Order: sequence, then structure tokens, then C-alpha cells
Amino acid sequence: RDSANVKVAVRVRPLIAEDAEVSCLLSMAGQDTFLSPDPTSTRQQEKRSFTFDKSFWSASKDSNFASQEDVYELFGKEFLDHSLEGYNTCIFAYGQTGSGKSYTMMGTESEPGIIPQLCSDLFERIEQLQGISSVSVRASFCEIYNEQVRDLLSNAKTSTNLKIRENSSREPYVEGLSEFTVKNVAQVLKYLKQGNAIRATASTNMNSHSSRSHAVFSLEIRQLTYEDGGTEEKRSLLRLVDLAGSERTNATGATGQRLREGSNINKSLVTLGRVISALASDRRSTLQVIPYRESVLTRLLQDSLGGNSKTAMIACISPTNYEQTLSTLRYAVQAKHITTEARVNQDRID
Ligand code: ADP
Ligand code: MG
Repeated sequence: RDSANVKVAVRVRPLIAEDAEVSCLLSMAGQDTFLSPDPTSTRQQEKRSFTFDKSFWSASKDSNFASQEDVYELFGKEFLDHSLEGYNTCIFAYGQTGSGKSYTMMGTESEPGIIPQLCSDLFERIEQLQGISSVSVRASFCEIYNEQVRDLLSNAKTSTNLKIRENSSREPYVEGLSEFTVKNVAQVLKYLKQGNAIRATASTNMNSHSSRSHAVFSLEIRQLTYEDGGTEEKRSLLRLVDLAGSERTNATGATGQRLREGSNINKSLVTLGRVISALASDRRSTLQVIPYRESVLTRLLQDSLGGNSKTAMIACISPTNYEQTLSTLRYAVQAKHITTEARVNQDRID
């Protein structure tokens, strides 16, 4: 068993055309992130500083600039290593809509994010293991929207409201979710693309849909190593999660479908927040119940959050929004205090 804290990184994106403000409120030095008051705000705001495992500066292309490759090399890659050691792993991206979660996790065709880089690295590693171990990989991709799980790799009508169950080892899984064996990076990227396309067609307004849904891409890695007289099997589940936007849904004026979406998103995200603060609190040892079961997201990620997993969070922030950024940074501080107990999932098959 390996007890470790959730690794937390923060990444600030550059100013983009959509930003109403023009001044950047963030600065970084080493592991530290500093948030300065917004000079245009009438609210009382103070300069704040935070320390994380990594502070990634992607706001301007100066000497501290962190590219997509840097974020993968310095933060993502470690979790692929752990997966190949037989640990379950999880990386999730948190932040308000427009803060760079999808850019960081998925990225673009020319600037691939953590997921595609990790996938291509994985198949290179598998190649290197040839003759030592045989590795098989299965991929699945789902989203949680309105507290319903939808299969992003299936167009079937039956795949829009899947249930979460527990297997005999009490690990949660999505019942009926399609899983595909992937043999090379091209195949896995094809599924990713396919899933993102299904996600996009679910709504006429991609932005509001993706800002309200949680996307969970999973790889199940099974590694067989033959050694004197027997076979050793290592299994690991690697989850890569692009969470819904963390901004408070403003219920005023929202009605019907919109209100329901808003309140359901709040349910998964609010529950995630409660789970994180319960796990982070010092009084954990008392008989405090962690409210995993109160939302679909936290049920599915139960192990990733407080159980058998090595887990990382990347908190994405925009350079201009003091209040939202402060709220994301506080959330990230809490996540740092969570410890998980990962173990190598290993069996001997004789
Ligand atoms: P989110 O998924 O959090 O809603 P996005 O990833 O869609 O946010 O990012 C919002 C916009 O900012 C997109 O146009 C994206 O390309 C751009 N962007 C985000 N992060 C970066 C970055 N590090 N470098 C360059 N552009 C970025
Ligand atoms: Mg997004």
C-alpha cells in the first residue's frame, strides 16, 4: 500500500478574445501562484498566494511558459508510469468554463493535451516492453450529464442512461458501457474523436452542454509478465476526467430544462466539493460519512478520490476573473490535503 496526497497543479491560460478584461491578475514563481486584486473591481480583494505541486504558467510565451508538452512531461507522465506499475490512477481537470480544462486534457489537433500525449506514450512504452510483458488496453468514454451516464462510444438509444454498479471487489463501474480493445495510438485517438463528436451532437449548443457535463475517458491496462514457472498479472484503471464548469449556476431566470440541468450539475459538482472537503478535513478519523453516494460523479470516482488510486488534479484558471479564480484555487488547496491509499493490483497466475 502506498499512501500519497492528491497531486495538485494549477495552470493559467493566456488572454483570449472572449475575455472582457485585459489585465492578467496572476503571476507565478516556482511552485507558487499569486492572485492580485482586479483593479477594475469595486469589491474588497486582497493579494493571495498559494503553493501547489506545480504552477504552470501558460499565460504568455516568456521564459516560464509551460507548453502542452511541458504539462504532460512534468505532470501527466508520472501517472502513466504508475499505471504501468499496476496502480489505478486518475487525473481530473477542474475550473470554470473557459479556463482551459478541455485544452489541457484533450487539446487540439496541432497542440494535443494530456490524454492524446499519454496515449501515444503508452503505446511507445508497450512497444518497449515487448519480449518482457504483454500488455492489453481497453478504452471507454462516457459523460455524466443531468445525473445520467451516457456512453460516448455508442449511438444506441439504450446507452444514454446507464447505471453505476459495484463489482465483487466493490469497485464502481458503468453497467453496459462499451469497451474497445485498442492496439495502437491511432485506434485510441479514433475513439476519442468519435466520443467527442457524439458529445457535441448531444446538444445544439456545444458550449453550454460541455460546460455542464463531465467527460470520463478510461483506459484499462492489463499487463502479463512471464517469469520462472508462472505469470504475473498487473491490472490498472486509468481515468482522465474533464469536469463540468465550476462556476455557480445562476438559477435566477432559469426555468424548465435549464433549471434542471443547472441543479443537477450542481448536484454532481456540489457533491464533489463536499466529498473533497470531507476527505481533506482533519477530523476524517471520526465517524464522518463521505457523501460519495449522493451523486453519479462521486459514485463513479469514489476510488479515485479517496481509495485505491493515485490521483491528480489540474486546476485551470483564466487570467482575469478574481472571484472565480480564488474559488478554484481554494478548491485546489483542499484537494492537496486528500490522501489516497493505492496498491499494486497484482496477481500471480500459475
Ligand atoms: P474549458 O474546457 O475549461 O471550458 P477550453 O479548454 O475550451 O475551456 O478553453 C477556452 C478557450 O481558451 C479555448 O479557445 C482554448 O483553445 C483556449 N485555451 C485554453 N487554455 C489555453 C492555453 N493553455 N493556451 C492557449 N489557448 C488556451
Ligand atoms: Mg471544456
